Amino acid sequence: MHVLSTPIEYLKGVGPIRAELLRKDLRIFTYEDLLMHFPFRYVDKSNIHSISSVNEEISYVQFKGKIVKFEEKGAKRSKRLIARFRDSSGEIELIWFKSIKWIKSSINLDKEYLVFGKPSFFGGKVNLVHPDLDVIEDSVKDFRGLHGVYSSTEKLINKGLNSRGLSKLIANLIPFLQNSIDESLSDIIMKKYKLPRKQDALINIHLSKDLKELERSQKRLKFEELFFLQLHLIKTKIIRNNKFIGYPLSHLGENFNTYFKNHLKFELTNAQKKVIKEIRLDVKNNKQMNRLLQGDVGSGKTVVALLSMLMALDNGFQACIMAPTEILAQQHFTSISEELKEMNIIVDILTGSKKTKSRRELIENLENGKIQILVGTHALLEDYVKFNNLGLVVIDEQHRFGVAQRAKLWKKNKFPPHILVMTATPIPRTLSMTIYGDLDISIIDELPPGRKVIQTLWRSDSSRLNIIRFMREQINLERQIYIVFPLIDESAKLDYKNLIEGYDSVVREFPLPEFQVSVVHGQMKSADKEYEMNRFVSGLTNIMVATTVIEVGVNVPNASVMIIESAERFGLSQLHQLRGRVGRGASQSYCVLMSGNKVSNEGKTRLKTMVDTNDGFKIAEVDLKLRGPGDMMGTKQSGILDFKIADLLTDGKILAFARKEADELLKDDIELLKSENINIARFYRPYARERMGWSRIS
Ligand code: ADP
Ligand code: MG
Repeated sequence: MHVLSTPIEYLKGVGPIRAELLRKDLRIFTYEDLLMHFPFRYVDKSNIHSISSVNEEISYVQFKGKIVKFEEKGAKRSKRLIARFRDSSGEIELIWFKSIKWIKSSINLDKEYLVFGKPSFFGGKVNLVHPDLDVIEDSVKDFRGLHGVYSSTEKLINKGLNSRGLSKLIANLIPFLQNSIDESLSDIIMKKYKLPRKQDALINIHLSKDLKELERSQKRLKFEELFFLQLHLIKTKIIRNNKFIGYPLSHLGENFNTYFKNHLKFELTNAQKKVIKEIRLDVKNNKQMNRLLQGDVGSGKTVVALLSMLMALDNGFQACIMAPTEILAQQHFTSISEELKEMNIIVDILTGSKKTKSRRELIENLENGKIQILVGTHALLEDYVKFNNLGLVVIDEQHRFGVAQRAKLWKKNKFPPHILVMTATPIPRTLSMTIYGDLDISIIDELPPGRKVIQTLWRSDSSRLNIIRFMREQINLERQIYIVFPLIDESAKLDYKNLIEGYDSVVREFPLPEFQVSVVHGQMKSADKEYEMNRFVSGLTNIMVATTVIEVGVNVPNASVMIIESAERFGLSQLHQLRGRVGRGASQSYCVLMSGNKVSNEGKTRLKTMVDTNDGFKIAEVDLKLRGPGDMMGTKQSGILDFKIADLLTDGKILAFARKEADELLKDDIELLKSENINIARFYRPYARERMGWSRIS
């Protein structure tokens, strides 16, 4: 058996009770698990100070000397053990409030000690509370340097396994490891990035002689962690691409060219051009496209989708576009039909509410290939929907569609169609490389020219009257207004009450017949919802009071004001999505964030970020900092973002290099057969097996 898989109870200093706790509380079963229990921070023990020279600027001190006397003071709760500790320059007090008995019995007045701790200054005297205490001859031989601080649990601490106890266990473990840790990277990569060997990195991550050594070790382990994930994701992608031949959409023909030359009303932005080129490169060969298109709200993804679908048509294929709601599907259908009205292209729509008779006819025309572009909702996934030859699928607003649903679309054909997934939720690059590492990614990072920047204001209740006056002005200018209330599951009832009260007070301020106010919320029947939405879309109502049901995609260019109530309760990306509902027309638009007077610091950061920037990618970066990757992506449970040491917030550079190396390596050694990659191959095999469970193939 490999040393690393030795059960933890065999380690000196562990024993059955501690072993049980280590397993239970820290999931440490083997030597390897202990070795992989990395410190979460470090303290520098490289200096020995002299007592007389300590001042308040020094945050940690280490002295060498003897305990000359100790005594217990106080009773019960205030009971403490005080030891006088002396070096050649002076004297301080060491103080313990806990484990007094045990410490007292272990102190030896004849021996020289190293004490380490955070000094507190009290009436001109220095003392150390609960210092680390080491007899010099016992202490690890290279005691100087950076020592790891470990997370532990209450139960473990009671059994002597606080951070320090754990570090002693690791010190016991290290002598067994000499030459027993297999290298997992190739010499080429280690040389190129000046990475230390795995063996050294794993030891020095616990105990480093200086900061430089520690940082080298951290870099090595982070690189390794990110490298193997990227290797896995890219390999998955390559295998899929090789396995699934796509339909080659090899030429641009009449449809694409006619639309582009005669009907496209604007010049494409450079970002749109770049993305269309990327898509074109994907689909023109025997490769099945799986591309994620990220672009902020209003960046013009629809035209990219349309041009891509025309590529399919030009090669004799059908295309479809799927939207998450009926309203959005309807909007796409209307605008695509409008765009293509002078061209000879058959466009149709399929949603859940389509009447059976016309549905039957639609299916027939879909199967015989008459319908060239089909717009729809989830209804497209139904088994009865069969295409004649579906060449390309566009999925709009990806986050509402699960992986399984995408897989379903695939099966509608002999070969899987090309897939373009579009999302308006910008994701920081580090995250998208990880979560969507097996998809190709295109980014539209530029808005069409001439957009007026939405003005964002943060206001509290005391400004209510001003806001109402402002709303009247806007309505007089024939603009429309959204007012959004939060909806958070746990308190749905309360939220509903807020919404209805809000609605009532809006109606009071904006009464019939002069004003029309709509309300839409989750507890309404969907037909009623649609009815109210449509009234707003077609300009019949001035104000739409709603919960976040309107968040996704609705396009009402005439709406110029978005008022968000209790804005501090919304997440950043949601606020950004909501704001994206306005600013779609020619007029200046506004977003008003209403908050209570008491807002948490995090809430303040969110609102301030919204006021400061309209850039979705910048907002996503802040969001990532505030919430962390798992929460941000709602993928906490999937495990893909559970890194041991890498941190997507700070390790973007390492990630980029790791991805590049993985990419280049797989280009000429997809099976990892080259002798130079032997270490990588050996490590990768079990790694891949473990990951198989949650590999995400769209
Ligand atoms: P989204 O990316 O949010 O789906 P849309 O595709 O709905 O954005 O585009 C938003 C608006 O911008 C639409 O009215 C569209 O016609 C317009 N638009 C898109 N691209 C351009 C461009 N290059 N120049 C001018 N207007 C554009
Ligand atoms: Mg859109």
